[in-house]
Amino acid sequence: MELWYTEKQTPTHGITSKISQTLHREQSEFQDIAVIDTDQFGRMLVLDGMVMTTIQDEFVYHEMISHIALNTHPNPENVLVIGGGDGGAIREIVKNPKVKKATLVEIDGRVIDVSKEYLPEIAEALMGNAKVEVKVEDGIKHINEVANMYDVILVDSTEPIGPAVGLFALDFYKAIAKALKPDGIMVAQTESPFFNADLISRVFKDINSIFPITKLYLANIPTYPSGLWSFTLGSKQYDPELADETNFPQLETKYYSPDIHKSVFKLPRFVRNLVK
Ligand code: SAM
Repeated sequence: MELWYTEKQTPTHGITSKISQTLHREQSEFQDIAVIDTDQFGRMLVLDGMVMTTIQDEFVYHEMISHIALNTHPNPENVLVIGGGDGGAIREIVKNPKVKKATLVEIDGRVIDVSKEYLPEIAEALMGNAKVEVKVEDGIKHINEVANMYDVILVDSTEPIGPAVGLFALDFYKAIAKALKPDGIMVAQTESPFFNADLISRVFKDINSIFPITKLYLANIPTYPSGLWSFTLGSKQYDPELADETNFPQLETKYYSPDIHKSVFKLPRFVRNLVK
């Protein structure tokens, strides 16, 4: 008998993937956590029925949420990830030799534990890397307790439901600006231009009301809703489109590159119209 995992990405559309087995399933304090073995994408982390990351396509998202900001900032020593319990963003951040400390603030410790056990290729930097500090707490609480502390902050959250709703609010972005140093940069994953156009427009307007430089960029992530994903960058001083690639460190990456860095800000018209 064939087994298929289906994610309804909207009430009327979804993806389905043939699976060989469910490796883990539990209800944590915050969400349903599952790890399944899919034929097409390998191991897949699913939270509350939504695909978070897969072995085969995670490199796109984790490289693109991290290296654009890290290479735009001349000295990204102190970096914060809010969410990101699978560890993929942290793994990318510590590839950059300029980073001295990477802090993960993830509300659900069980996501970290399950990722370490079943997705070590993604969670590797959460296991004993001297540059990494892991805090299990609400990112909203942490961001309101710090000021003038981080060079780069990445918001690697689940969809804007449940504990992540507050991670898409104007007050949260204002608190991020306060937590950043005077030349800091933030990046938030901001969902799909096909399915979440209104959210993208509202979030861009909010971040643009706080940061002098605000840019949207895209990447193709096959297992995310619609396959086209957006990131919104807010910068207090440095323009990512003006970053000098001769200052970029040599990085082992499979999607991000200096050419990609230069090209991602050229947006399709229907996306450009969301952020006018
Ligand atoms: N790349 C995925 C995506 O784009 O959907 C997200 C990866 S990561 C698994 C998302 C994490 O955000 C989850 O582990 C979830 O527990 C965490 N999260 C949700 N709300 C949070 C909050 N308020 N503070 C900290 N972490 C939160």
